[in-house]
Amino acid sequence: MDRINRLIDKLEKEQILSVKEFIEIIENHTSENDKYLFERARTVRERIYGKAVYMRGLIEFTNYCKNNCLYCGIRRDAVNAERYRLSKEQILECCKEGHRLGFRTFVLQGGEDNHYSDEMICDIVSSIKELFPDCAVTLSIGEKARESYERYFAAGADRYLLRHETADNEHYHMIHPKELSPENRKRCLSDLKEIGFQTGCGFMVGSPFQTAEHLAEDIIYIYELQPHMVGIGPFIPHHDTPFRNEKAGTLEMTLLMLGLVRLIVPHVLLPATTALGTIDPRGREKGILAGANVVMPNLSPKDVRKKYLLYDNKICTGDEAAECIACLGRRISSVGYELVTDRGDFKK
Ligand code: SAH
Repeated sequence: MDRINRLIDKLEKEQILSVKEFIEIIENHTSENDKYLFERARTVRERIYGKAVYMRGLIEFTNYCKNNCLYCGIRRDAVNAERYRLSKEQILECCKEGHRLGFRTFVLQGGEDNHYSDEMICDIVSSIKELFPDCAVTLSIGEKARESYERYFAAGADRYLLRHETADNEHYHMIHPKELSPENRKRCLSDLKEIGFQTGCGFMVGSPFQTAEHLAEDIIYIYELQPHMVGIGPFIPHHDTPFRNEKAGTLEMTLLMLGLVRLIVPHVLLPATTALGTIDPRGREKGILAGANVVMPNLSPKDVRKKYLLYDNKICTGDEAAECIACLGRRISSVGYELVTDRGDFKK
């Protein structure tokens, strides 16, 4: 058996390798090795979650952002972005429609927008929980003080997504403005976990200046944090950012990362992201086959969807939520899995 497959076997058994060994896989894997990795990843995932693929209704409730991340299409300096905010009533309307369609998890995502005070966020969260007690609420609204996270949790938020973006400090500074620090990002993630959120970190594949070593560090950081969720998608350039002329991340490398993450944190809830579906027409199906078990269809009102553009050519910005579910359901059954409507909590 070849060396890379032996490393994959070792990874499945011990759930971790050295930086050097991860780099070897990243730099030298063949499509045969990938096939082997994805088989192992599917076996592990099916042992824990069966054939189920969970769906999360994504509500992109604001595209105002005070930050200026160099890769992001809704960064503060993206002057052509048409900014919008949803009211509490509009958000509840999305949840109502989503609940009718079978969603039992709502993800509220946005730029870092100080218009929404902690009090407003708590009010929105507790209203959703009151109206839809059978649903989980996930927040994805960036870096906050520990006390703010505590308040959101007390208001009933169940989960929090905050991608670490890159575990390498130097690389972090190369793709973020100087006001942002990798230390604070990681502080947020450990606070969130300690407070009791089902916590998600994650990173972009192929972001500018990323090396194989950075990716190996991402994997090791994930192993150390032991998150409940990990969001991984390819970097895709946005025309209104400093990275407009950079290359997008590849399908192949994103799938490799999904497979590796499934083996290092076997119980993880792992989405096949919209960005993956954007760089390849069957990207999400391929993600499921590499070990992913979550999809996040868009529940935002149709008229704002085209305004929440983190990157160019984003898919599914024109469909109704119901069409998205039907389409995803077909895609998922086409590869032998089943789109289900339950909350899809982390299984210990
Ligand atoms: N403000 C929130 C939500 C960010 S948007 C936060 O800070 O967590 C969600 C994710 O989209 C980001 O974490 C980032 O990893 C991803 N993203 C942003 N710009 C992108 C791009 N150009 N290509 C691919 N993914 C991108």
